[in-house]
Amino acid sequence: MLPPYRNEPFTDFSKPENEAAFRAALDQVKAEIGRHYPIVIGDEQISLDDTFPSLNPSRPAEILATFSKGAVEHGEKAITTAAQAFKSWQYVPVADRARYLLRAAAEMRRRKHEFSATMVLEVGKSWAEADADTAEAIDFMEYYARQAVRLADSSHLLYPNAGEQLGLYYIPLGVGIVIPPWNFPLAIPTGMMVAALVAGNTVILKPAEPSPWIAWKLCQLFWDLGLPPGVLNFVSGPGRTTGAHMVAHPQTRFIAFTGSREVGINIFEQASKVPPGQIWLKRTILEMGGKDAVVVDETADLEAAAQGIVVSAFGFQGQKCSAGSRAIITGTVYDEVAERVVDLSRKLQLGAPDLGRDIDMGPVVNLDSMQKIMSYVEVGTQEGELLLGGSPVETADNGYFIPPTIFGDVPSNARIAQEEIFGPVLAMIRASDYDDALAIANGTEYGLTGALFSQDRARLERARHEFHVGNLYLNRKCTGALVGVHPFGGFNMSGTDSKTGGPDYLLLYSQAKSVAERL
Ligand code: NAD
Repeated sequence: MLPPYRNEPFTDFSKPENEAAFRAALDQVKAEIGRHYPIVIGDEQISLDDTFPSLNPSRPAEILATFSKGAVEHGEKAITTAAQAFKSWQYVPVADRARYLLRAAAEMRRRKHEFSATMVLEVGKSWAEADADTAEAIDFMEYYARQAVRLADSSHLLYPNAGEQLGLYYIPLGVGIVIPPWNFPLAIPTGMMVAALVAGNTVILKPAEPSPWIAWKLCQLFWDLGLPPGVLNFVSGPGRTTGAHMVAHPQTRFIAFTGSREVGINIFEQASKVPPGQIWLKRTILEMGGKDAVVVDETADLEAAAQGIVVSAFGFQGQKCSAGSRAIITGTVYDEVAERVVDLSRKLQLGAPDLGRDIDMGPVVNLDSMQKIMSYVEVGTQEGELLLGGSPVETADNGYFIPPTIFGDVPSNARIAQEEIFGPVLAMIRASDYDDALAIANGTEYGLTGALFSQDRARLERARHEFHVGNLYLNRKCTGALVGVHPFGGFNMSGTDSKTGGPDYLLLYSQAKSVAERL
């Protein structure tokens, strides 16, 4: 009998013992810098001469680790191996599969700061953001373990039929390719991977190029628990070639992807093709980008609203699919809120996050990202009034630091109000009234998260129906969904609304088998 599910608590770094433990973890992880990590297929480790580095974005000259650049042939071999392993893994009882997740969760909890410290170095998360990422990964394991046991035999949901014994069983699909992004480099691969495994599928994890180190540590945790060879394979390499080949492969049964709109659409199209030898229609679970809005009306608690806007826009440097990159404010309170948002944002501490717990914002993830974000800043200067930031911060180590950047009076149809920038850039938009604000909020092709700050009961109720996003938050920030509490996923071009961390999620990794026996 399992204890009831509860979310993993966040660490209070103001306690000296927690701060000391985190510093020790950073030292431990730094002592591991410079290793090479192989591709792992079945029980074989493959180290190639062709490698790529994982860099510290705070100090890009620092190579944290190198990884083998898997090619098409490695994807091919991994799929064959996973297909072989599926023959037995699919029949391992669900309670045993769930136990792997629970044991992994317990181990990750014991080594929590080590996982978080790895993300501080590899993607530039602040301590608090990294801690929340690890907590979410633990939550996914605890939550899906319980959900899998609940779901596997759903026969009790059927209505009786005289003279028949009935069964409804959720069985696995087959070999899945798990393709995560780098921005929740532990929680997202954990969630997609363990959902697939606990449902009885076998997996090839292809980590995102900027964050293979933390992904490798995650896989190693499972291999060390004695997961049978071939059930979980790790193929590092370029998404465009190696990833794309695995997506198209006829033995691939499903693809679990989280990432950009552009790549999600590409996978959707490729997976819909049926090459010779493929005997199923592939399933795709695609979670994509956002252009999320925080709406504030004239009845709102303006201080709470300003704080909510700042945290939503600049947490993890704005590199969240749920980031509140648009603040839509009704005219009478616009100036007051804008001024307060600028004041609060100016106080955010920018720096290399391994330096200490006081750093609020680290670097953006890499040079490509920095260039893309700065090109949007350039566009923004044509489209709105620059209120804060706007130029990269130079450091001795050439880190990719962009300060909080805020544009005021941005037209709702401007590019910086429509396109996902995925960096610390906030567009503030003036709305004439609440109707206008709601129309602007709904006026992009995305529909992931959104927040409304208002004290008007009728408006809050209207937002429940008319604010068209997968995750709506009333009088709070639009980031920070909790597993099992706020099932997460978006509408329209934000993806297939898979609702990670929700009661329906494992259905996506399963197919239902109905059995009737004549008595
Ligand atoms: P990305 O789309 O560039 O890459 C995601 C993954 O796809 C990587 O592992 C990459 O190697 C792989 N890939 C790239 N091209 C491929 C191809 N042709 N075939 C197969 N795989 C391919 O995204 P990113 O930069 O890693 O992540 C940022 C994006 O992720 C943002 O748009 C963000 O909004 C989105 N995101 C969405 C959610 C959500 O839940 N909706 C959560 C986190 C991030």
